[in-house]
Amino acid sequence: MIAARTLFLLAVIFAVSVLYGAKPSIIVKGAVYRHAGVVARELGTGFLRSGKTFYLGRGKDFFAFRAERADFHFNKMSIAGNLPVRKYGDSLYFSAVDVNTILMPLFAPGRSIRRHQVRKIIIDPGHGGFDRGASGKKCVEKRIVLQLAFRTAEILRRCGYTVLLTRKTDYLVPLNRRSQIANNHRGDLFISLHCNASTDRRANGVESYCLTPAGVASTNQKRASSVRLPGNKLDSNNFLLACELQKSILHRTGANDRGVRRGRFAVLRNLNMPGVLLELGFISNPAEESKLASSEYREQLARGIAVGIINYHRKIYGRNK
Ligand SMILES: [Zn+2]
Repeated sequence: MIAARTLFLLAVIFAVSVLYGAKPSIIVKGAVYRHAGVVARELGTGFLRSGKTFYLGRGKDFFAFRAERADFHFNKMSIAGNLPVRKYGDSLYFSAVDVNTILMPLFAPGRSIRRHQVRKIIIDPGHGGFDRGASGKKCVEKRIVLQLAFRTAEILRRCGYTVLLTRKTDYLVPLNRRSQIANNHRGDLFISLHCNASTDRRANGVESYCLTPAGVASTNQKRASSVRLPGNKLDSNNFLLACELQKSILHRTGANDRGVRRGRFAVLRNLNMPGVLLELGFISNPAEESKLASSEYREQLARGIAVGIINYHRKIYGRNK
């Protein structure tokens, strides 16, 4: 049985390599890369080129990428890839980690996403107490995210979810305690709320972070880590949750899209459930600070987060459940 299966696999690999006249996989700097045409075929997507941009597409969904780059787009939403797409001979190759943690969840969720119940949502307002987080001219992060957490919880409860906050008042919860609270209460999803700051006052927009997969570097960092963290068990779910949140928040607020990214944040490392850390806008940008300070804008953020959670819930159970 095993021999037959191995033979079949070898035959497929051989047929595919003859078909494309290229190696089905290569290894660059210790990382496995897979032929983009073979990946497209496995995912059941078309493979197109327009100028320097390539597309994997099916129905209304299009994944855009370029050779030697790791900044991808899915239906125009920005996604930070883990490793650049390699050009080898006349062919393009995706890193196996991007196939497994980005392309599979997007185009073949049934094969990569773990189904789980979504009843209890843990909302984690960042910072608190003497840790004010980012400060602008008139507001501080710890207060904005707490107000936002209350409003998001209210909306989610009305939709039938149970919601738990890691803090309800202005005190500091240590970082490792936050994921402990989530795990101890057997949460089904974990959403950490933050605001951003930069020395560049023009910087603005929303970022959604999921835990960096083992073996690669976090977005905007150079050093890879091979350590596999407990939260890495759910890489595909983490990514899908980040995508749904980012998409829905952008849709509600019209904020600048800074993309779905990867980070080894302390609050995401040890989670037993899918988790995402949201950077919901730059307090250092005067225009965005004014928005974050207004309850109308926070209402849109809260709705965006709630709808993102509902869409994720729908997606892992198919359309009707
Ligand atoms: Zn923060």
